[in-house]
Formats: sequence, C-alpha cells, structure tokens
Amino acid sequence: MNLILLGPPGVGKGTQAKLLIDRFGIPQISTGDILRAAVKELTPMGAKAKGYMDSGALVPDEVVIGIVEERLAQADCQKGFILDGFPRTVPQADALGQVLSGMGKSIDHVVSLSVDKGELLKRLTGRRACANCGAGYHVDFAPSKVAGVCDACSGQLVQREDDKEETILNRLAVYEAQTAPLIAYYQAAGVLRSVDGLGTVEGVQSDILAAIRA
Ligand SMILES: [Zn+2]
Repeated sequence: MNLILLGPPGVGKGTQAKLLIDRFGIPQISTGDILRAAVKELTPMGAKAKGYMDSGALVPDEVVIGIVEERLAQADCQKGFILDGFPRTVPQADALGQVLSGMGKSIDHVVSLSVDKGELLKRLTGRRACANCGAGYHVDFAPSKVAGVCDACSGQLVQREDDKEETILNRLAVYEAQTAPLIAYYQAAGVLRSVDGLGTVEGVQSDILAAIRA
C-alpha cells in the first residue's frame, strides 16, 4: 500500500504514521531523514545534494526527487511506503507520479488529516515548559499541581515562543496555503481520503483504516 500522509503541525501525524507502519509493515519515508541518510552514504543523488548543502544552497527539487526515487527502489518499499513531508507542491507531486509510474507503481491513498482550528489551538497553545528543568506540562491535559509552578523543581512554567497563538496561527496558515493545491490535485486524481484528525489516537487510526479500505 503506497500512502502519502498530510496533516498540519500538532495533529498527531507522527503517532498515526507509527501505527500504520506497525500494522502494515511498510516504512515511513520522511524527506529530511532520507536526505540526511543519502548524504551520509554518498549515494549518487546524496553526493549531489551534499554539493548544494555544503555551499549553503537549498537542495533543488530534481535532487530531492532523485533521493526519493533511490529510497523507493529499496527492498523494504516493495510492499508499500508512507511518504511524509513530500510532495509539498504540485510540481513535486507531478514528478513523484512520473517516478512511480516508471517503477510500475502509483499512490493508492493520500490521507489528509484535517483539523478543527479552535481545538488544535487549544492543544498547542496550552503547552508549558519549566524554565528551570525543562519538564513539560499542558494547562488542560497535563496541568501542574499549582498553576505556573513546576511539580518537580518549583521552577516557573513558561510558554515557548513556538507555542504562542500568533506563531501557531501563522504556521497553520502556511501549511494550509501550501497544502490546499495538493489536496485539490489528489482529489482530482481520486485518491484523497479526508480524515478528522482530532479524535483519540485510536479513533483517528480506525477512521484512517476505514478510509483506506473503503
Ligand atoms: Zn522544573
């Protein structure tokens, strides 16, 4: 089963991917990870990527796609794979389609975890961390015994810059702008499966399974 997983920050995509990996015995292919691995192993495409990275340049699409192709050709992808973080744009999706078609493969399902923005904000903006020992809390889901005070060391609990509402709204807007064309693209291809990403871990997983079996 060849899958693409789409979802905004904080939706639990990593957790869902892990459950799918365990269930289907297929690898998760995250572009950041395979790029690092290809550079380390100096595969033909990895060596090209290293040239760009060493000069401080962005690795261009054709090299990233080459690295994805190298990875998809490996034995553990024969039963399928879960692509995470790629493609990000319609041209990348087109290129991926061509690579897969050359291998006699195609994408079976694009699982898009959608979100209720209010609920997602509550999840993400409620995070707190101890300024002294780094312990993590959540004002709703994992509160400290005394508000604003660390249980472990009595340090002050603070909200990280990344967890502030403005930052999160900005990240979500970037995600939506980037992903909307891809959603339309895969919808037109008939492989889009939209799943509500904000239930329990088990509930979301069973919705994903139902969507890809339907
Ligand atoms: Zn602490």
